Amino acid sequence: MKIGVLSCNPKLYSTRRLIEAGTQRGHEMHVINTLRCYMNLAADKPSIHYKGADLVGYDAIIPRIGASITFYGTAVVRQFEMMGVYSINESVAISRSRDKLRSLQLLSRKGVGMPITGFAHSPDDVEDLIKMVGGAPLVIKLLEGTQGIGVVLAETKKAAESVIEAFMGLKANILVQEFIKEAGGADIRCLVVGGKVVAAMERRAQEGEFRSNLHRGGSATLIKITPKERSMAIRAAATLGLNVAGVDLLRSSRGPLIMEVNSSPGLEGIEAATSKNIASIIIELIENNAKPHKTRTKGKG
Ligand code: ADP
Ligand code: MG
Repeated sequence: MKIGVLSCNPKLYSTRRLIEAGTQRGHEMHVINTLRCYMNLAADKPSIHYKGADLVGYDAIIPRIGASITFYGTAVVRQFEMMGVYSINESVAISRSRDKLRSLQLLSRKGVGMPITGFAHSPDDVEDLIKMVGGAPLVIKLLEGTQGIGVVLAETKKAAESVIEAFMGLKANILVQEFIKEAGGADIRCLVVGGKVVAAMERRAQEGEFRSNLHRGGSATLIKITPKERSMAIRAAATLGLNVAGVDLLRSSRGPLIMEVNSSPGLEGIEAATSKNIASIIIELIENNAKPHKTRTKGKG
């Protein structure tokens, strides 16, 4: 099959591994720079141009859309979908996952457990909002933050009030969440591919930090998850409609809680921690789901 990896940087570990795994499995692999795709929206024949030529003959794409280019990236994925090209994660599912509030609303509708979370617009409601999520300490998150940036722990009610008011003053959209102290700065990343948890790792924050993100200096180790954690991770990915997802769970005293679902999970940490060939599992999913030579652009006049 001819498979494109949508990525802005061919040197990134995840991009390299997907190209390598696809090549090993006998596919024609290409890195497509998402931001260099430009589109023709013609009704009869939607197309994508790339460095002066038409992008044709692709059977599938693997979107690796960075959070900073969600808007343009999902438009490119949508255009591929309009051309009949199979995308391992659909554009609408990627958009859902990028908005923390929208994701949590979808998960709550399906009864998936999560930390108590609140959302408000007016500074006049801050005091009651804090009360609603159980008071300080609490976590304040920018709705579109990622890699731990924009996630703040407020230890006291006073600190929480000032941080929330400051964000509101900047017109930043935030959510306010119960702090799961007993998680002890650790969380569990489950890699879900095609409705199965294919790998799981524990991420532990570095000393003096509560955010376990590897980008924030966290460290990863192999972990065995419980059947409940496994089924929650699978349900969370399915609820957002993601075939490939990094589902993050917190171990709380009342059981596992979903924290967030990522649509372009990094492969480096999880492959290193688990010694599993995740890139190959992702390519295998494409083999089982995309139909080769079925893209509608082929032979269409
Ligand atoms: P990001 O999208 O920036 O990764 P997250 O919501 O995943 O934002 O939060 C970053 C990290 O902060 C998590 O990996 C976790 O370690 C910690 N964290 C987030 N929310 C909570 C919470 N409610 N209780 C305890 N720790 C949290
Ligand atoms: Mg996270």
